[in-house]
Amino acid sequence: MVEAVAVQIDGQVGARWRPRITHEPAPVDLVKAEKAAADMLAALGLPIDSEDMFETPRRLVHAYAEMLTPPEFDSTTFSNAAGYDELVVVSDIPVSSLCEHHLLPFTGVAHVGYLPGDRILGLSKFARTVEFFARRAQTQERLTVEIAEHLMDRLEPLGAGVVIEAEHTCMSLRGARADGARTVTAALHGRLRDDPKTRAEFLSLTRDRAGAR
Ligand code: ZN
Repeated sequence: MVEAVAVQIDGQVGARWRPRITHEPAPVDLVKAEKAAADMLAALGLPIDSEDMFETPRRLVHAYAEMLTPPEFDSTTFSNAAGYDELVVVSDIPVSSLCEHHLLPFTGVAHVGYLPGDRILGLSKFARTVEFFARRAQTQERLTVEIAEHLMDRLEPLGAGVVIEAEHTCMSLRGARADGARTVTAALHGRLRDDPKTRAEFLSLTRDRAGAR
């Protein structure tokens, strides 16, 4: 699932990895996109020749290009020298992504945990990992699976789990207009999936968070 592009940086083995993702984006063509955006907005009946909306196609394209361009990825790991053998859970990581069916935002939080083996992940890298997989056209289901599989590949932990709770504006602002409906997805691997005690501990940590809101 994950492929290494440079494995020796500052003496750290595997400091930089380029995760393989499901749909690798092609390069952005801003000029072509702006023209197409102007055509689409005009076809939708919007007065894009007016002073107020003249710049809108350009702004729209730049906003989408930003939301669809993943950041640089660095998932530095460290040796688990202390032999830490309990769950590590980082909860309430903000998530925002674009649903690939409507290109409307879905936003919420991710809870990411793992049971360390020989390597541990820098704590700030959890949020970066979530952002890397989120900043593209996604489904919440795939996003959840990709983050969990990445942790398994990158850290080779005894187990890993990801729970994402999000509100989809394609469901709240249009269509069903189910305002406030939250979609919860989970992906569990290794001991977090197979060992009932570890699984229950991880899920209770994430459920307690959900109940607290
Ligand atoms: Zn959608």
